[in-house]
Amino acid sequence: MAQKNSWEFYTESDLQEVEKLSSSYQDFLNRGKTERECVSYIEDWAEKHGFRKLSDRIAERSPLKAGERLIATHMGKTAALYIIGKNALEHGLNYVGAHIDSPRIDLKQNPVYEDMGMAYFDTHYYGGVKKYQWVTLPLAIHGVVALKDGSVVPVVIGEEEGDPVVGITDLLIHLSQEQMEKAAAKVIEGESLDILIASRPSAKKDGEEAAKEPVKTYVLSLLKEKYGIEEDDFISAELEAVPAGKARDFGLDRSMIMAYGHDDRCCAYPALYAMEQMLADLDQGGDAPEKTCLAFFADKEEIGSVGATGSHSHFFENTVAELCALDDAAQKLPLELVIRRCLQNTCVLSADVSSGFDPLYASAFAKNNCARIGYGISIVKYTGARGKSSANDANAEYLAQIRRILDAEHVNFQTSELGRVDLGGGGTIAYIIAAYGAQVVDCGIPVLSMHAPWEVISKADLYEAYRAYLAFYKNM
Ligand code: MN
Ligand code: MN
Repeated sequence: MAQKNSWEFYTESDLQEVEKLSSSYQDFLNRGKTERECVSYIEDWAEKHGFRKLSDRIAERSPLKAGERLIATHMGKTAALYIIGKNALEHGLNYVGAHIDSPRIDLKQNPVYEDMGMAYFDTHYYGGVKKYQWVTLPLAIHGVVALKDGSVVPVVIGEEEGDPVVGITDLLIHLSQEQMEKAAAKVIEGESLDILIASRPSAKKDGEEAAKEPVKTYVLSLLKEKYGIEEDDFISAELEAVPAGKARDFGLDRSMIMAYGHDDRCCAYPALYAMEQMLADLDQGGDAPEKTCLAFFADKEEIGSVGATGSHSHFFENTVAELCALDDAAQKLPLELVIRRCLQNTCVLSADVSSGFDPLYASAFAKNNCARIGYGISIVKYTGARGKSSANDANAEYLAQIRRILDAEHVNFQTSELGRVDLGGGGTIAYIIAAYGAQVVDCGIPVLSMHAPWEVISKADLYEAYRAYLAFYKNM
C-alpha cells in the first residue's frame, strides 16, 4: 500500500480545519494532564452539549429516544459518552475507545522526607518510562488530596506563570564516570526518581529547640497554609508529577505538536471532536445515527487496564446493561440476552497511538509496515510481542469494512506494526473488548518519542483521526 502525505492534498478549508482542531486539542491537553482532569473536561463538555447523566436518566424508566445524549463516569477517572441511535441496542454500538492516563511519576503514600537539608517527594513511576528522561525537567504536581471529612482538595502546582516548579536532579557530568558506564535502564534507578521540593529550613525562634527536620517542617507548613492539608493526608491522596508547561506547535513549519500525554489524549480528543460534529448536525435538524455511538475514555491502560477504572472493570458493561434496561427490546426478551447481543454486535475502534517511524532509529522499524507521521491515521491489525502474544488480531472482514468506510469519506489512513518483529511490543485495550465477541481494531495516531515527557505528533494525523472516527460513527 502506498502511503500518502496528507499535507500534499489539503485544501485551504482543510488547512483551516486542521488549525482549528489543533488549537482546541492543545487547550484540552493543557487542561487535562491527568485522567481526573480529562474527565472533568469531558463532564464540562458534555454538560455544554446537552448530555444528561445516565444515573438521572435511569431513574425515569422511560424508553430511550434516538438522539438522546447520556454520560456516565466512574470515580472521576473514566467516562462514557453515548449518543443513542435509531436501531435497537441489541444491534450493537459504534464504539471509539481511547485512554486518558499517561506515563508519569506518582507520589508514594508517605512521600515527604528530608536528607541533608533538602526535602523530597518519594515516588513510584507509573507506566513504561525511560527513567533517565525524567531528570532535570521542570515538573508540576497535579492531583487530589481526599480528607477524612469527605472533602477533596484539588492540587495543581507548577502550571501558572509565576508558579514554582519541582524536579528530579541528575549527577554532574564531572563525577559521572561510573554512571556513564551503566546500561541506560540503570543510569537512573526507580528509587532515585525522587523529586526535590524544598531547601529552606523553618526559622529558628529564640529559646526554642530547632525542628528535627526543619526543611520538611517548613515545606509542610506551606502546604498546610495553602491547601489545609497535614502530612498524614498524603495517605489518601493521588498526586502525580508531570512535565510542567503547555502543549505547543512544533517544527519551523508548525506542522507538529509537542506535548506531554499525546498517548493517548491525541486519540481521546478526536473522538470527542467527532461527537461534537455529529451533535452540531443533530442540532441543525439532522438525523440521529443508525447505531448508538459511544466515546469511551479509559483509565489505567498504561499499567494493564486493571482496577475499577481500567478497561478490565465492568464499568462499560454496566452502562450498557443500564441502557439495555431502558431499550424497547428488553420488554420482549430477557435483559441478559439483550445485553449480550449488544456487546457482541458492537464494532470498536480501539483508538490508541502507534509508533511513528523515526529515521534516527530506522533499524527499530520494518520499513514496509511502519507508520509515518503526516501520512494519516494508522490501522494496526495486531499488537502484542514475540509472535503476536497477547494481541487482538483484528478480523480481516472487519478490516475490509473499515477500509470501505474510510475510503468513502476520503480519510487518509496507513497500516502499521509497532516496530520490527521481536524487538519489543505493546498492548492497548483492544483485546479486552474483543472478549465480548465484538469486532475490534486498533486505529490511532503515530507518535514520535512515545512515552517520553514530551511527545510529538503531526497535526495532519490528528485531523485524519477525527475524520476517521466521525466516518466510523456515521457509517459503520
Ligand atoms: Mn496508549
Ligand atoms: Mn502508552
